[in-house]
Amino acid sequence: MFVYADNAATTKTSKTAIDAMLPFFDKIYGNPSSLHEVGQIAKEELEKARETVAKCFNAEAREIYFTSGGSEADNQAILTAVKMGERKNKKHIVSTKFEHHAVLHTLQKLEKQGIEVTYVDVNKNGVVKVEDIASAIREDTCLVTVMFANNEIGTIQPIKEIGAICKKRKVIFHTDAVQAAGHINIDVVDMNIDMLSISGHKFHGPKGVGALYARKGIFLTNLIEGGAQERGKRAGTENLPAIVGMAAALKEAVDNIDKHAKYVSALRDKLIRELSKIPHSVVNGDLVNRVPNNVNMCFEGIEGESLLLMLDMEGISASSGSACTSGSLDPSHVLLAIGLPHEVAHGSLRLSLSAENTEEEIDHIIKTVPEVVNYLRKMSPVWDELCKGELNHVI
Ligand SMILES: *Cc1c(COP(=O)(O)O)cnc(C)c1O
Repeated sequence: MFVYADNAATTKTSKTAIDAMLPFFDKIYGNPSSLHEVGQIAKEELEKARETVAKCFNAEAREIYFTSGGSEADNQAILTAVKMGERKNKKHIVSTKFEHHAVLHTLQKLEKQGIEVTYVDVNKNGVVKVEDIASAIREDTCLVTVMFANNEIGTIQPIKEIGAICKKRKVIFHTDAVQAAGHINIDVVDMNIDMLSISGHKFHGPKGVGALYARKGIFLTNLIEGGAQERGKRAGTENLPAIVGMAAALKEAVDNIDKHAKYVSALRDKLIRELSKIPHSVVNGDLVNRVPNNVNMCFEGIEGESLLLMLDMEGISASSGSACTSGSLDPSHVLLAIGLPHEVAHGSLRLSLSAENTEEEIDHIIKTVPEVVNYLRKMSPVWDELCKGELNHVI
């Protein structure tokens, strides 16, 4: 049996998205910037897609800018806030320790250029405290950037509360909503969000396309100079097939959001219930404030990498955390941020589901994971020391 359980890394493009895209390769191939009819037809479709995306977040079409993905949207949002802050000599940013690298690495680069960043701690449940964000904001803070849902442990942050504080303190608020969009309801007005990033391939749209919502009044800084596309804020001929595919996938996801959440969270809860029976295991991240599709656990005495390879041989595609950190031997910064010791953080497993997963697939995971964990523990010198009492159990 084959089970794809790595939907936080990427999703299969939905049939709806593919069907929406296909005409844009041969029939509607115009450049939206061309003045002739072929171009204007393309332009109309581009604007329809913008309207569709905007509606999904209660935004206006003119507040949506298409990008090459979530990473670009994050970069542009942060640099925009810094540029807007410069004019008022505001050079401080508030963020958290467990952001995606698209945010963290951008912030680290800015620190080298004289921007000061406060990385707020997350509690052991993987949720930031609103009070901690509030007390980190200073007179010279130009931006608060806090992710909507964490990509490794799936925890949902108190975005509406943080938005209210930022509004009151007159600080720009950006949220990386890549893992939340299409999975949980988002209303940028109600939540006081100034900028929000999304990525097509995290909700069954195509890869290499995303969007940045920027509230009117936010003066975007370009990352890419050139033509006047995207209201002059993102040059380059629009990737119309991908944009249309993303809009179709997003609409489908949002239209079915409650139905899918109910179905997928039941599968998630079954996995958590059954896999928690493995001795010396722990579920990472809050069980309530959690996206419907995320399971993240650690098993003491084993290496996450070996677990993944063996699950792969059993037909299960999973992850140890973020796809972006695979290849590095460091434990995940997210698991360290929620206070797990290094040795435990090494034995992590992320299963991220979608509405395409079946009950039988979940049962296959429930049967396979304990067998593999047992097998690996039998060969693990660390597990041996734990059993003999030479090392102390942490979980
Ligand atoms: C995947 C992801 C990104 C990056 O999006 P891309 O479209 O792959 O650039 C950013 N933030 C989070 C939380 C993600 O999960």
